[in-house]
Formats: sequence, C-alpha cells, structure tokens
Amino acid sequence: MNRNLDLELISLTKRYGSTVAVDSISYHFDAGTYACLLGPSGCGKSSTLRMIAGHESVSDGSITLGKRDISHLPPAKRGTAMMFQNYALFPHLSVLDNVAFSLKMQGTDIATRHARAGEMLELVDMSNLADRFPDQLSGGQQQRAALARALITKPDVLLLDEPLSALDPFLRIRMRAELKKLQRELGITFVHVTHGQDEALALADEIVVMNNAVIEQAGKTRAVFDAPATAFVARFLGSHNVVSMPDGMIAIRSDALQIKDANAAKLPGTITNIEYQGTHVALTASVPGEQEVTALLSDKDFFGSPKNLGEAIGLDWEAGAAHALAG
Ligand code: ADP
Repeated sequence: MNRNLDLELISLTKRYGSTVAVDSISYHFDAGTYACLLGPSGCGKSSTLRMIAGHESVSDGSITLGKRDISHLPPAKRGTAMMFQNYALFPHLSVLDNVAFSLKMQGTDIATRHARAGEMLELVDMSNLADRFPDQLSGGQQQRAALARALITKPDVLLLDEPLSALDPFLRIRMRAELKKLQRELGITFVHVTHGQDEALALADEIVVMNNAVIEQAGKTRAVFDAPATAFVARFLGSHNVVSMPDGMIAIRSDALQIKDANAAKLPGTITNIEYQGTHVALTASVPGEQEVTALLSDKDFFGSPKNLGEAIGLDWEAGAAHALAG
C-alpha cells in the first residue's frame, strides 16, 4: 500500500481580530520527517501547530494530510495527535487510564483499551509505573506518559508544543534523545515547536524558522544552518557573525573565522574579549563600522599562538564561507 501521508500547509493564515498571527504560510512536510518550527516568542509557531491539530480554527488557506483536506475536521478525525507543553495529564486518573483516555472517548471496551495502553507504556519504557498517578511521577516520566497518551490513537503526525520546556537542562538533553529515538522507531512525522535553536538543531531533519507570522527560511537543518538567508536567521540560529561590509551584509560562522596578521586579512580588528570555553576559545574583536565579531578557535589553535586583549589582528575566511544576506 502506498499511502502518501505528507503534511502540507497551503497559504495557511490565522487571524485573532485584527492580529495576523500566521500570514499565509505554505510548507510541505514529507511523511516521516522530524520538523521543528523555530522562532522567537509571538512569531506564530503555536498558532500554526494548533491549527494543524484542530485546536484552533483556520482563518484562511488549508491543511492537507495525505492529500486529504483536514482544515476543518475535528481533532480526533485528522490523523494527528498533540502533546502539550504542561503534559495536561488528568491528576485523578492512573497513568494507564490517562494513556487509555482517548480510546475511552472513542467507546473502546476496557480490556482492549487497557491492553493498548499497556503496549504504549511499554514503548516509552513505563510499564512498571502504570498504576501511579501523575503527581507520583518525575518530570521525565510525566513526559513519557504524555507521549504514550498522544501516540495511542496511532497518529500519522505527532504535534509537540515546547515538549521539553518544563524539564531541567540535564533531563531536557536526555529526553530530547528519547524523542528522536521514538520518532525514528515509529517513522511518523513529528512537528515540534520550540524557541530553542540548540534543541531544533539537535532534533530536526528540517527546520522552519518563523518571524513575524511568516516563514523566514525553511529546509534541511544543515542547509539552513550552513547558509542562512537573512540576518534574522543567522542571528537567531547563533554561532554566526552578521557583518556589514562595503558591498553588503554577510553571515560567517564563528568557527569559519581565522586569525591572521592585521595587514594580511579581509577584516582588521582589535581584540575586546577572550573567553576560554574548555574545548574552544571565543575571541571577540571590534571591527570597522562599530561592529563586533566572534571567532571560535580550537584551544589548540588559540594557545598555539596566544593573543592578548587590545591586540590588533586580522580576521579572514575562506572564499565560500561568507553568505550574502537578504536583509
Ligand atoms: P508563538 O507560539 O510563536 O509564541 P503564537 O502563535 O502563540 O506565537 O502567537 C502569535 C501571535 O498571535 C502573538 O502576537 C499572540 O499575541 C497572538 N495570539 C496568540 N493566541 C491568541 C489568542 N487566543 N487571541 C489573540 N491573540 C493571540
């Protein structure tokens, strides 16, 4: 059977009164992709996700899943499932009954739904905690229970709204590895909303960078990181310098900058900060036009030829390392 389960947003728009939260965005998610919607607070990520889930009405445009127009279907009929930021587990239900909840709503008998919920708990490695209540679980366990609950309907697309934001930094990194593993095993599409660029880079096959209700740039994660098209994307992804040169604005990765003699490089600079970061040294220099750039040097390169604050240097890069920016 050849099911085309690609998810497509077609001129999708969300208005709240006079606020345009999502402004005619179009994007095609191939089935089985791990995609992150990335952007600052208020750029329209959650509104987009909620429209895909059916928790928010579509003002204009449409959403198709496997060529089927799902724009106006109720959430349970779409083939999507949502995992919320605060997990939204029912406090008075056991883990097993939380996971089984949507099957209960569909009228599935108790033996069948408990058996299915048991399978889902096995999938997220929570079988031994089936009888616990949510307040008896750690943050990571609550997240796994919420995942199992979302997956029990066998969605083609799992929608995750800031799924890691309630966790402490250590657990966040562990749970993000688990999310990625689960997505690989299930082979379904994940659309994950985050404002954290490191989270998006770590997880996503494709990133969709949003700004002011539109998609600023989207594509394969590495392709976007390697060649940001706008100053906003370069700055938001981090690890890039945005520099105004006489012939326009460019982005250069911090790790692509080389330190040379002042008169033998593309850009003269004066060192304003040296930060030791263990494996690397971040060297910041002021350059013409009242700008600052940061070069990330391996500790070997830096300590092989150490520099001092206030020293005049030249900053250089290989042809092709600089990307012209649209604005
Ligand atoms: P993000 O998820 O990127 O933070 P949102 O989609 O939540 O962005 O919000 C996008 C814009 O829509 C913001 O300006 C926000 O204030 C507005 N907005 C979101 N939800 C509502 C709502 N229910 N009513 C009115 N305005 C809203």
